Amino acid sequence: MSKQVRVRFAPSPTGPLHIGGVRTALFNYLFAKKHNGTFILRIEDTDQNRYVEGAENYIVESLNWCQIPFDEGPGKNEKFGPYRQSERKHLYKEYADKLVKSGYAYYAFDTAEALDSHRKNHEEKGKTFIYNWHNRLKLDNSLLLSPEETQAKLDAGEDYVIRFKSPQDQTLHLTDIIRGNMTIDTNILDDKVLFKSDGMPTYHLANIVDDHLMEITHVIRGEEWLPSLALHYQLYDAFGWEAPEFAHLPLILKPTGKGKLSKRDGDKLGFPVFPLAYKDHKTNEVSRGYKEDGYFPEAVVNFLAFLGWNPGTEQEIFSLEELVQSFDLSRVNKAGARFDPDKIKWFNHYYMQEQDNLELAEQFQMLFPDELKDIDVNYISMVINLIKERATFVTDFWDLGHFFFETPLDLDESAVKKAWKEDSAEIMKELITVISSIKDYSAESLQTNIKGWITSKEIGFGKVMMPMRLALVGALQGPDVFDIMYLIGKDESVRRIENLINTLS
Ligand code: GLU
Repeated sequence: MSKQVRVRFAPSPTGPLHIGGVRTALFNYLFAKKHNGTFILRIEDTDQNRYVEGAENYIVESLNWCQIPFDEGPGKNEKFGPYRQSERKHLYKEYADKLVKSGYAYYAFDTAEALDSHRKNHEEKGKTFIYNWHNRLKLDNSLLLSPEETQAKLDAGEDYVIRFKSPQDQTLHLTDIIRGNMTIDTNILDDKVLFKSDGMPTYHLANIVDDHLMEITHVIRGEEWLPSLALHYQLYDAFGWEAPEFAHLPLILKPTGKGKLSKRDGDKLGFPVFPLAYKDHKTNEVSRGYKEDGYFPEAVVNFLAFLGWNPGTEQEIFSLEELVQSFDLSRVNKAGARFDPDKIKWFNHYYMQEQDNLELAEQFQMLFPDELKDIDVNYISMVINLIKERATFVTDFWDLGHFFFETPLDLDESAVKKAWKEDSAEIMKELITVISSIKDYSAESLQTNIKGWITSKEIGFGKVMMPMRLALVGALQGPDVFDIMYLIGKDESVRRIENLINTLS
């Protein structure tokens, strides 16, 4: 690659960024970093009707949380700025005019009502109305007017749009890094609107002009933009600009069945489809986010990388740096990528093991303030060290380890049946004596002493270990009993065994 790689993520701030948008941002980021290039954030806010306050901030926060920050964008290294299209508004008209002058575009004055009635008439005949070569000479546009007539309409302040004049009977050859070569018959294309008399460009014009001015070398975006590719190619041609390379990422499919992953799938199956929780200020509806649901950004990133890409090996665990090294657009699939919410849990469980215990302890304490606020974080961190192997989320810690923080009051009935026998009270009393006599109180010495006593007395391990665990945990689960006894301390261990004897005898 000879040119300095410059890629952009170009979301429209119309609401919270969907997890699929995060995947697009991630692939752009990985590609940029792999080639020592620049990752740009451009806010495509030309459609003011769909603009949502706070959405841009949400996008930036999402990228930061995923640790894939942009190099250039609003408020950051504004070399090619501004990066919000609404702030570049003054730029676009000149380019639309250029196309009109060179004959690639024309003014159209058809009113919304007129177009609606054309659409209806066509529908009634079972046809679809397309504004293009087929009928543009029967409609209300500058192709039928003299330059003076057109100018007179513009001077009179008539509403207009500028449309691209899509050619007739041509075959376009398009290339996509992921999809290879494609051909398109121009006869099926419509004369897309590029500019409106309110002074705003449409997505197509602004997107091409900005990609050119920002010296974008590769356009990596979702498959839903593939139908726009033919027009975009033609716009580059019309301006006489070199087109960037294109890569359209595969769709993200529902966990089961057909179709694209939607927010509804998430609601139905109980998983988030947004990186961060989001409150819709109009409806007050709050949508869940991966962050707030307890996912680690490393897990989300690792999972998203595999939505459409694979390294060609068995390796599944990739740090961000490893992804940067291994990422290659030629290993991105055409076929849709199925979203598997269990797989992201699997990644989260993996990355849980990699987290710092003290940091996890702080998070856990914040999530359970009533239960944990007075407990030393170092103690919590030692508990976490024992139980995290079975945890997927920080919130799992409570169920897995509540008995480290409170005396278990309820006894699991089936555990009692299994563990408590006629001679259990007697054995537990003896056990208390053994524990009390231990001087150097550590998990190892507890183990040596108790196991030694069991062997010498020939009692049988289950007869001691089961009621002992029942006393400590309230059930027959949990990490190593000697570790538990060590952490809760001698007095508390003895007290719990006494409690059990009193409750069950
Ligand atoms: N603004 C478009 C979007 O919302 C950008 C598409 C593109 O990357 O060209 O996804």
